[in-house]
Amino acid sequence: MDIPRIFNITESAHRIHNPFTTEKFATLGAALRLEPEDRVLDLGSGSGEMLCTWARDHGIVGTGIDMSPLFTEQAKQRAEELGVTDQVQFIHNDAAGYISDERVDVAACVGATWIGGGVAGTIELLARSLRADGIILIGEPYWRQWPPTEDIAKGCLANAISDFLVLPELVASFGRLGYDVVEMVLANQDGWDRYEAAKWLTMRRWLEANPDDVLAQEVQSKLASEPERHAAYTREYLGWGVFALMPRLRLKQV
Ligand code: SAH
Repeated sequence: MDIPRIFNITESAHRIHNPFTTEKFATLGAALRLEPEDRVLDLGSGSGEMLCTWARDHGIVGTGIDMSPLFTEQAKQRAEELGVTDQVQFIHNDAAGYISDERVDVAACVGATWIGGGVAGTIELLARSLRADGIILIGEPYWRQWPPTEDIAKGCLANAISDFLVLPELVASFGRLGYDVVEMVLANQDGWDRYEAAKWLTMRRWLEANPDDVLAQEVQSKLASEPERHAAYTREYLGWGVFALMPRLRLKQV
């Protein structure tokens, strides 16, 4: 079981597979007021940077599930490097439908909400692993500027404008699902560059090492077109953030 090979090629050198940076994850960890021994579940944990650094910095314990064997292996190595192997475990599996045995304090899906069939389905899935007053984390794109045409949405690698909302609407949509947004940390254009531009050098080096690979032509043409596509579309039109959610309380009427 694996994700499409092109991602394992283009993102092989990424520690973070989304427009967040080390600093943004540190900001988010502090914002959530994590306590030692807090349990964190991460669906689509990638190379494990969030869980590993929070284990080091906040003493959390956690489990990450990811479908890429390469990223899962890198996550385990990162846990070794940071000396947190007794706090975090990484499982190579499809996270669709995954529910933890023990309820967790934080249940996250950061940049992989297709796992639950979209934002609403992923929130529902995560809620089944969450203790009553726990926090759900959703990492999701939004339109930083409304794209004037469908072609511009496609330039951002969306299928259609309707794939994403603008930020106020995304935030309001969590409310309609019965959740309060209790924190949020947003990526910025520098973060997009770290995610997208870091792929270019990786592709260039991969091509040099693998000129006869069946994907060499595809990687070559991506390398030739991606910088302009990113500069014209993703960097300008797409925002991205992590939203911390708690079920809205029902207060007694007085
Ligand atoms: N949360 C990570 C990775 C985000 S990228 C980070 O912030 O770095 C999306 C991740 O989802 C990739 O690591 C990919 O391998 C993983 N993925 C895709 N489909 C999946 C599935 N069905 N189950 C588990 N992981 C999946």
